[in-house]
Parts: sequence; structure tokens; C-alpha cells
Amino acid sequence: MTLFPSFPENGWSADDADFDRKHIWHPYTSMSEPLPVYPVASAQGAILTLEDGRELVDGMSSWWAAIHGYNHPVLNEAVTAQISKMSHVMFGGITHAPAVALCRRLVAITPAPLECVFLADSGSVAVEVALKMALQYWQARGEKRHRFITPRHGYHGDTFGAMSVCDPDNSMHDLWQGYLAEHLFADAPQCGFYDEWNSDDLISMETLLAEHHRDVAAVILEPVVQGAGGMRFYHPQYLKEVRRLCDRYNILLIADEIATGFGRTGKLFACEHAGISPDIMCLGKAITGGYMTLSATLTTRHIADTISQGDAGCFMHGPTFMGNPLACATAVAGIDLLLSGNWAERVAEIETQLKAALMPLKTRSAVRDVRVLGAIGVVEMQKPVNMGELQRRFVDAGVWIRPFGRLIYLMPPYIITDEQLQKLTQAIDLVTNE
Ligand SMILES: *Cc1c(COP(=O)(O)O)cnc(C)c1O
Repeated sequence: MTLFPSFPENGWSADDADFDRKHIWHPYTSMSEPLPVYPVASAQGAILTLEDGRELVDGMSSWWAAIHGYNHPVLNEAVTAQISKMSHVMFGGITHAPAVALCRRLVAITPAPLECVFLADSGSVAVEVALKMALQYWQARGEKRHRFITPRHGYHGDTFGAMSVCDPDNSMHDLWQGYLAEHLFADAPQCGFYDEWNSDDLISMETLLAEHHRDVAAVILEPVVQGAGGMRFYHPQYLKEVRRLCDRYNILLIADEIATGFGRTGKLFACEHAGISPDIMCLGKAITGGYMTLSATLTTRHIADTISQGDAGCFMHGPTFMGNPLACATAVAGIDLLLSGNWAERVAEIETQLKAALMPLKTRSAVRDVRVLGAIGVVEMQKPVNMGELQRRFVDAGVWIRPFGRLIYLMPPYIITDEQLQKLTQAIDLVTNE
């Protein structure tokens, strides 16, 4: 007797769709009235193929991750080569070549003083690790500093520590009042990336620091691009000035580069737009080219040594799948692929094409703003979009674009062709033209 249709032989059936709807949670969805989900059978380059055979041009890189596109021969080879050696082995008391190869690369390509790497399983965990590093650093120095400062409109993940530094309105801190640590929220910077710098943007951060710096362990922010909290691109001078303030008040700066890292904004890391280095940096998403989950938190020798010489004598964290060899080997291949290619040129070309195609939509009555930076294009509507309906129209138009709130945005894989990118911008043109 078989209990289940055999997998993968039986493929996809109407019954699977039904099971999915009844039993499987998707990100941020209702279990009782879920919006439709689209079954994907395979993916290749910048194309997602649905179970019914329809092909969609991918405008999302699977949430910033699949920068090299799907089913890439070089990444496939790295996975296959590693899997035939070992998929996983514990990292406590053991090390291995894929982890060392990855960390060598991360230390080399991130801003200079970052040289100690903590590997973990997801972006949210990298943020938890960063917050814990900052807290333990101060603890080791005999100071109990328990607060963080962060600009509004930030997004740092869905676990409790990360949630506590997300935008308090977007992430519904109301719902969590009494559950989350209460941190300090500075006004979000208002000067856009291309605007003239206005130092008023700093007033709120400066005021909070002046008042609370003795209790504050670190400032945490997303450098230059605030992603899931509103797709806002702020002025690099803001980042420069926050670095200066952190130095003045002797407070750590955590840069969450989980979305921006690996070239997305036109620089390898968004901190480079401001020429600053953080004390702690979080990486994730594109680190394995979107193949599997992995994250890294980097810090300086000084912070690592201080933590290690504290009462605890070590850093108090160690996930089961820390340094997963399969993920590390894939990340190494992905980083080498990125650095050996012409990513900067390609991202600049995507930026040019996005600007040419999307900027003219700014004059439309339904559109509030259009902004483009690197391989990110954002059309902000006046009103929240009807996600279910818009999603269906995009699929009908042969593209995969996943809007949220008032935002319709693109962050395609860097390997997308000009024609494929045009298909994406034309679909946005179509749905905003009414
Ligand atoms: C996506 C994201 C995270 C969380 O990463 P997960 O892998 O989803 O846990 C944290 N910070 C930023 C800036 C992100 O974009």
C-alpha cells in the first residue's frame, strides 16, 4: 500500500494544489483565505517555468538571492562536487575546506577591519548573531548596554531580536507590545540617494544618541537601501554621518547588507557608497547565489577578542547547521563567478535600462514615485495594490513580479537579457497605465 503519490515520478496534480492550500503556510499569508500560489516546475537562467508550461521572466531573483539566475552550470557543479564528498558535518570541533575557502573570500572582499566570520543559517539568524555580538561586547567590557538604535522603515528579519529592530509600524509592533525588547527608533532619512544632502536628516539620530548613548550597544541599519521596509534609497552621506556619530559616542555600527551585498546596488557592498566600514556586517540572501540558505556575520578582531576575553570566554552561539559544507561550497563558487565576471558593468547597464523604462512612469496619476539604484527598480503607487489581482495580471503577461503594499519593484538576476528586462518593465508600464 502506498500512502502518498510517489515523488518525483507523479509530478504535480490538482490534488497537490488543494493540499497546499489546506495545509501549507506561505510567507505572510492567511491559512484560512490564502491568495493563489503558482506552482513552479523548473527554473533556468531568468525564466521560471510553471507546472502548466507557462514561462515567466523573473523580476525578483527569488527575493534578492538568485543573482546568477537559476540552474547555473557552475553552481550546479559546485553542489555536485561537494555532495559527493559530504553534505554536512558538525562545525563544533571540526572544520573543512569549503568553510575556510568561503571565509577567506568574505574577509578579503568586505571592508578592511572585518576579519572574524560567524557562519549561520539565514539572514534573520545573522542579525540575531550581530545583536548578540554587540551585547556581549559591552558585557565583556563590564557595561550593561541593552538597547539598539535603528532608523525607521528598516527590515532585519522575522525572529524576535530582528523583529525588535524592524520598522515599528510596518512590522506591527502594536501586535508585539510587551513581547519585544524596546529599542529606539530614529526618524528615517528623507534625502534620497540622488538628492542634495540635508543635514536635518541626522537630527533625530543625533538627539537619540546624545540622550541614550550610555545604554546603547549599537546602531543597526541597512546601508543606503532600506529593502522590505519600503524600498527606500537614502543619501550615502547619512551613512557617513551615522558612522561619525557612532565613533563620537563610542557605539558600534551594525550594517545589515543581507539584501544589498554582492553587487545589487552597483557596489559590491552598499557601505562602499559612503566609504565606511561597520563594526559588524551581516550577509545572506545572494551569498549562495540563491541556491540554499546561508548567512555570515563579520566583525573586527577587536570586538571578537573583547567578547572572547569576557567572563563567558566565548561567543555564545552555535547553530546545528553552522558552516554547512554544501552551502559554503556553493557560496565559494557563486562569489568566484561574480568576481571573475563583469558584474559591475552589467548592474550599471541594468540600472540604465531600468531608469529609461521606469522613470517616465513618474508622471502618471496613480504613481507616487519611481526610483532606481543599481539593479533595483521601484515604482511606488499612490495606493496599496491589490496583490492577488496584480499578481495574476503579471503572470498573464509572462512575468514574475511580486508587489507589496504600494510597491511594485524589480530586482532581476544580473544575467537577465535586455529583452527579458524589457518584458518586465513593459508589464509594469501596462499595469500602471490606468
Ligand atoms: C531578508 C532580510 C533579512 C532576513 O533574512 P532571512 O534569510 O529572510 O531570515 C534581514 N535583513 C535584511 C536587510 C533582509 O533583506
